[in-house]
Amino acid sequence: MFCDKCSSLMSSSGDYYVCSSCGNRKNKSKMEAGSGRIVNRGVAKQVVIIDEEKNAEPLDSDAVCPKCRHVGAYFLLKQTRSADEPETKFYTCESCSHRWREY
Ligand SMILES: [Zn+2]
Ligand SMILES: [Zn+2]
Repeated sequence: MFCDKCSSLMSSSGDYYVCSSCGNRKNKSKMEAGSGRIVNRGVAKQVVIIDEEKNAEPLDSDAVCPKCRHVGAYFLLKQTRSADEPETKFYTCESCSHRWREY
């Protein structure tokens, strides 16, 4: 997994891939959801993921980080076990990368 901004190797951290050079983050579960197409090149069996630009997380400019009070956090909606339950909103602080969720 390489950073699409600076091409450095990204390391796995929880639900994210994090670039150690520029701090760029990519959400794993969002990529698994199928927005990135996987192309199988047959004989060579090389798997290439394209359209990565579309996986950028949306920014909620009204979210306030409970840890550092920074205003602005990336968010992700996740459906819990039962379809009757509302989606849970997961936030990641833009400033300190603290994660929390909202019900
Ligand atoms: Zn980077
Ligand atoms: Zn924070």
